[in-house]
Amino acid sequence: MAVPKRKTSKSRRDKRRTHYKLAVPGMSTCPKCGEVKLPHRVCKACGTYKDKEVIAVEA
Ligand SMILES: [Zn+2]
Repeated sequence: MAVPKRKTSKSRRDKRRTHYKLAVPGMSTCPKCGEVKLPHRVCKACGTYKDKEVIAVEA
């Protein structure tokens, strides 16, 4: 079994982890209700896409 020759120092370990971060999802606002939504998706708040196509029906 391959074994590391040297202990990874705290500095080296932490430098490696600088790349561990969450990607922020792209955000856009709905032109109808102004709610923050994901681009190219139907608006969850009012159920519209591209101005007037109503896909979801509000309860
Ligand atoms: Zn909306």
